[in-house]
Amino acid sequence: MYIKDVLAIPKDSPLREILEPQGIKSLLTLPVVQYNTLIGFVGFDSVNNHHQYSDKERSILTFFVELLVNVKSRIDSLKQLSEAKIKAEFASKAKADFLSTMSHELRTPLNGVIGTTNLLLDTNPTEEQERLLKALQFSGKALMNIINDILNFSKIESGKVSLQHEVFNLKDLMNSIHSTFQLKAEEKGIELTLKCEDGFPEVVFGDSGKLLQIMNNLIGNAIKFTDEGKVSVLGEFKELKKGEVLLYFEVKDTGIGIAKENFNRIFESFSQEGAYITRRFGGTGLGLAITKKLIELLKGTINVDSQIGVGTVFYFSIPYLIPKVNKKAPKKVKEAVQESPFHLNNAKVLVVEDTL
Ligand code: ADP
Repeated sequence: MYIKDVLAIPKDSPLREILEPQGIKSLLTLPVVQYNTLIGFVGFDSVNNHHQYSDKERSILTFFVELLVNVKSRIDSLKQLSEAKIKAEFASKAKADFLSTMSHELRTPLNGVIGTTNLLLDTNPTEEQERLLKALQFSGKALMNIINDILNFSKIESGKVSLQHEVFNLKDLMNSIHSTFQLKAEEKGIELTLKCEDGFPEVVFGDSGKLLQIMNNLIGNAIKFTDEGKVSVLGEFKELKKGEVLLYFEVKDTGIGIAKENFNRIFESFSQEGAYITRRFGGTGLGLAITKKLIELLKGTINVDSQIGVGTVFYFSIPYLIPKVNKKAPKKVKEAVQESPFHLNNAKVLVVEDTL
């Protein structure tokens, strides 16, 4: 709206009642419209003298209105975005809490089912009963693995995983992983080897439980997806600076392999290479997502290389601190028990649980 002379406005107009007391003689004003809604006016006014607004002044005002609408739209969308983010975070936390509570609650009765099945297997069952009990045991364990994966994943997702800082014996850990999986590999008729480079640190400072979980996932997968040949685990290291090393691990198999285009996808949650994997091998597609997140939590990285029908190699590295020389690794449980002033031999242990 352009008003050269306020006196030209009809006397009874409310606009004149507003402008006249302020001594406004001329006025140039533009409506500010956002998404087809009038949100206000901006303008120039001249108080002392009448003023004929030029085209330049009009275009400055038009430009200012456009700027104002843009800034307001940007502020509005940032506000919407932040509200949506708060809602999404709330929903994601609720989902993680639900998953974590449910999987925890499911584990207790399932432990009862698995434990009772194990006890029944010890009661001299008939051949047919043993066959059925073993099927029950197998399904129970499979269900427990799924629940554990979901619990682990939701814990990591909701940031509830804390890191343990302890001195631990790395060589013992590697050897015990090797013996745990040895039987499984033998059952499948494949070889499982473990080799650590000369000088590989025996004792490090960090989280042993997470490393165990990572190794379990990768070696478990390597054996699962290999029917012939071997699975080899390699440990190497590089000194980063005094008292700190980068441990490098490799889990290599001669199994079914992974197509190059799926290298990234397999690290996503609930992702498997294809439907045939679920049919043939089962699984949740969570193991590698958990593994990757754990490695990142430990400030490490993981990569994969593979060729269909030839085999797969997962390699990851994690930095660890080396404890000062006089700091010894904790004794193995057996040694600690033998040296304990308490005599636990033949002690009776009562475990109480509110659900069977
Ligand atoms: P899951 O083992 O429960 O299926 P993972 O997240 O551990 O889930 O693995 C995701 C997918 O990556 C597997 O389903 C499989 O397709 C592929 N994969 C993982 N490890 C190997 C391996 N060593 N050899 C071949 N394929 C593998």
